[in-house]
Amino acid sequence: MNHYFEIALCIYLGIGFYLATLGPAGKDINEEIDRARGSSLLNAYLDREPPSEFKLLLFRVAITAGFVLLWPVFIFGIVKAQRKAREESQAFATKLSQGLWFQYLGGYGSINCQDCHHVESITSFTHGRDSSTSGFQCQSCGEFAAIRSGGPGRAADYESTLICGCGGQLDREKVLFCPDCKSQKLKYDMEFIT
Ligand SMILES: [Zn+2]
Ligand SMILES: [Zn+2]
Repeated sequence: MNHYFEIALCIYLGIGFYLATLGPAGKDINEEIDRARGSSLLNAYLDREPPSEFKLLLFRVAITAGFVLLWPVFIFGIVKAQRKAREESQAFATKLSQGLWFQYLGGYGSINCQDCHHVESITSFTHGRDSSTSGFQCQSCGEFAAIRSGGPGRAADYESTLICGCGGQLDREKVLFCPDCKSQKLKYDMEFIT
């Protein structure tokens, strides 16, 4: 009887140890240690010595032991968070491979078409003390527009209509394209950001 309990306990701890080292929790524990170690900038900023490797080892042993004992409590959350992070970074990579998006461009700068070499200055997003300006592109003619929005808390209330002079829809949630040749192969050079 007692024997079964010991075997079950060994299996339980063995699984916990595997998950905490080679398994998915190992990555999280390593990140935790790195955070505790701090960057040289952070350590300089806090005016502290980086923690000694011995202290970090104790810390690692403590959180590993805690995890090995209680792994069923943590493992599902860890796996779920890692899967979500992986999906997000894949979605981000897919978006970036399609072209430029206003939401990932900062400030004011110029776009450069890699196909027809058209160059144009655009605003992606700038803000002053009580207003901001967001970039849009007409989905019909390709013209860029910089539209001011209302004060604090009203960043999505644009002061002018989101219809282009040509009657097309202005959008900032689509891949940017060259107004001249419609190519999505654009490069962005930021000139300033506020
Ligand atoms: Zn072009
Ligand atoms: Zn237009």
